[in-house]
Amino acid sequence: MSERNEMLRAGAFDLLDDAVVIFGDDGKIIDINKATVLLLNKAKGDIVGRTCNDVFKCERSGHHCFLNMVRYMNKDEISGEHTIIDGGGKQRRIFVTIRKLFDESGKVEALVEVIRDVDEIERINKSLLDQTMTDPLTGLWNRRRIFEALDAEAARSTRHGRAYSLLMLDIDHFKDFNDTYGHLAGDDALRFLAVIIGRNTRKEDVAARYGGEEFMLLLPETDIEGATMFAERLRETIEKQSAESKQLKNAFTVSIGVSFCDPGCSCNATSMVSEADRALYSAKRAGRNRVATFKVHCD
Ligand code: GH3
Ligand code: MG
Ligand code: MG
Repeated sequence: MSERNEMLRAGAFDLLDDAVVIFGDDGKIIDINKATVLLLNKAKGDIVGRTCNDVFKCERSGHHCFLNMVRYMNKDEISGEHTIIDGGGKQRRIFVTIRKLFDESGKVEALVEVIRDVDEIERINKSLLDQTMTDPLTGLWNRRRIFEALDAEAARSTRHGRAYSLLMLDIDHFKDFNDTYGHLAGDDALRFLAVIIGRNTRKEDVAARYGGEEFMLLLPETDIEGATMFAERLRETIEKQSAESKQLKNAFTVSIGVSFCDPGCSCNATSMVSEADRALYSAKRAGRNRVATFKVHCD
């Protein structure tokens, strides 16, 4: 291989996100990439030339035995999860794959170990999942996620005979707000509303942006009086705080529809949403800036 190709190959090796460690057939480390230095929190000079046992401090003694398994067993590849202690004393969960590399005569020439940081993979997966479940404008849950929460709550309430309530909240005359002050000011109002909702809910409540200028709030273990009182207080808070706000272009009000499931009644998510929607429509028809409550019929 030409010197230039060798350089390109070394550059590519360092670009990999996974840590790669190459062991000679004597078990000593021949080469590592940059990701290994980051993962182990150790300088390259403290790694190359050492054995796996010198470099990887294992929580249990599993890691190097694992390497030996590939060296001495009749297997070309082996993988598994381990916990190691890095150079800074921090525990790291890693997923390791070790593979034999053979020379032309079929003799084992080296072992290549590819290490993935399990915590990092889980963090990325969680962040991707959060993105698919979160409304980007307000940071609240999105419609998909609240439907999952609603299904779970419907099942829980049927099983344990618990009451729960659902609020559907819609900004009044929001089209006029946008037409008068512009869509950016409208977006500010939506974010402002999400903050007020967040501040006024308990940690077991679930708040979501249902779509456009409509929000949903699931209140577990909340009876009809509790939910209606809460909705009325929230409506007043929104009216008052949006009027006092200096960051908003103008005040706004909301109408709220409340649906309620009696304890012992099995109300599915769809009927809870459709009753909250009907209640909201009734609040709008009655003049807006008000709350209407509908009870879901027991099957
Ligand atoms: P009502 O009191 O009957 O609810 O009247 P409304 O004007 O609020 O209702 P309508 O459904 O006619 O209009 C909803 C408006 O919400 C229209 C749309 O431009 C606005 N809207 C929906 N999503 C967004 C958004 O993400 N940002 C902004 N700025 N406006 C939005
Ligand atoms: Mg609407
Ligand atoms: Mg509206």
